[in-house]
Amino acid sequence: VGEGGEITYKKIQSSQIMGSIQLGIQHAIGGLASKPERDLLMQDFMTVETTNFPHEGSNHTPAHHYSEFKFKTYAPIAFRYFRDLFGIQPDDFLMSMCSAPLRELGNPGASGSIFYLTNDDEFIIKTVQHKEGEFLQKLLPGYYLNLDQNPRTLLPKFFGLYCYQCNSKNVRLVAMNNLLPSYVKLHQKYDLKGSTYKRKASKTERQKNSPTYKDLDFMEHHTEGLFLEADTYSALIKTMQRDCRVLESFKIMDYSLLVGIHNLDEAQREKTEARKSTESGQSDDEDEPKKSGLNRTRSINRQRLVAHSTAMESIQAESEPIDEEEDVPPGGIPARNARGERLLLFLGIIDILQSYRLRKKLEHTWKSMIHDGDTVSVHRPSFYAQRFLDFMGKTVFKKIPSLDLPEIKGNH
Ligand code: ATP
Ligand code: CA
Ligand code: CA
Repeated sequence: VGEGGEITYKKIQSSQIMGSIQLGIQHAIGGLASKPERDLLMQDFMTVETTNFPHEGSNHTPAHHYSEFKFKTYAPIAFRYFRDLFGIQPDDFLMSMCSAPLRELGNPGASGSIFYLTNDDEFIIKTVQHKEGEFLQKLLPGYYLNLDQNPRTLLPKFFGLYCYQCNSKNVRLVAMNNLLPSYVKLHQKYDLKGSTYKRKASKTERQKNSPTYKDLDFMEHHTEGLFLEADTYSALIKTMQRDCRVLESFKIMDYSLLVGIHNLDEAQREKTEARKSTESGQSDDEDEPKKSGLNRTRSINRQRLVAHSTAMESIQAESEPIDEEEDVPPGGIPARNARGERLLLFLGIIDILQSYRLRKKLEHTWKSMIHDGDTVSVHRPSFYAQRFLDFMGKTVFKKIPSLDLPEIKGNH
C-alpha cells in the first residue's frame, strides 16, 4: 500500500495497472482475430508479442491518459488454443476482461502479489514474479499436453500470460479461472497444504472480513473433517491424485488446495434473522453478500463461462441439484460438517508456479518438510505431493459412513 492509502505494486498505482492491462489485453485479443485458427506448433509456446501504447495513440492503439507503457503477450496462439479448449469465445473473453473495471482483491497472499477479479466473476488476474512467469512459459507445452488429454482437473487453468512495462518496471500477470464465487457468502475459506509447520492464519488475517484460514485452523474448526458421499469422495481424491502426479512430474511444490465453504443451513438461519430484523425496522445491509450491479446478480444462475471449471465438473462428479437454492451458483460439491449441516464446497489447486528449482523462495517449504519428517532432499516434490494427498484424503475429506454398514443395519 502506497501513500494516501492507494494500493501500489512496484510503486505503480494499482488503478493504472488495471486500466493499462485492459487496454493491452483488448489489443491482444483483437489482433488475434486476423490470425486464422490452426493446429498448435511448438514455437507457439515461445512467441512474445510486444506493443507500445503511447499517450496520443497510434495506428493500432487508442489514446489514453495512463503513463505510456509497453504490453507483452506471451504465447498468444497457444493461449487462444487453451481458451478454446475450455469453450471460451474470444468475444466473451474480451467482454469479461475489458468491458467493466476489474475489482481488486487486496493482497490476499503473503508474497505481495496483487489479484484482480473480473466483474463477471469468471477470471482472476494475478501478478507473478519474473521466475514464475518464466516457469509458466517453460511449463506450457507439458502442462497443456496434460490438459488436452484431461480437461477435468483441479489444477489452475491459465488463459493468458502478459507483461506490463512502465518506467522500466515489469509487471507480469497471469489470467486464470476464479475458484470462489464472490456473490455467495463463503462462511469459511481455507488454504491447505498438508503441513502443520506455522500453518495458522495470522492475527491480521483473522481480523479480515473474510479470512483465509490454514491447515491448523481447519483441524481446529473441523476436528472430524468434511463429509462427502462415497462416490464424490472417490472422484475428488482420484482427481487430486492425478493432479499431484502431474505436479510432481514438473517438480512443483508449495501449492495449496483452496477450499471455500458455503453453509446452506447457516445461510438459511441468516436469512431468517435478517427478515426478523427488517420487520423490526432494523437495516441488515451490512451482512448481505455484495451484489454489485445487475450483471453479477444475473450471472448467478447462468452456466459458468469456462467449461469444466466448477468444482463438480472438475472432479467429474454428478449429483442432484440442490433445488430451491436460487442464490447459490451451480457446481459446488455437496458435503456435510460433523453437525450434519449441508455445505457446498468450492475448491481447486492454486499457486503452482513454484518449482523445486526456485530454491530461494522455498526456504520456508524446506523447513516445513524437515519439520514434518522429510530428510531426503531429492524426493521433496514427491514427499510434498504424498503429504498433501494424505492430508486431503484422511484429515480434510471423509466418506459419509454408509447406512448399509452391517453394524448400523443390525441395530435397527
Ligand atoms: P504465497 O506465495 O505467499 O502463498 P501468493 O501471492 O502466491 O501467496 P496464492 O497462494 O496464489 O498467492 O493465493 C493467495 C490467496 O488468493 C488464496 O489463499 C486465495 O484466497 C486467493 N486466490 C488465489 N488464486 C485464486 C483463484 N484461482 N480463485 C480464487 N481465489 C484465489
Ligand atoms: Ca500460496
Ligand atoms: Ca506463491
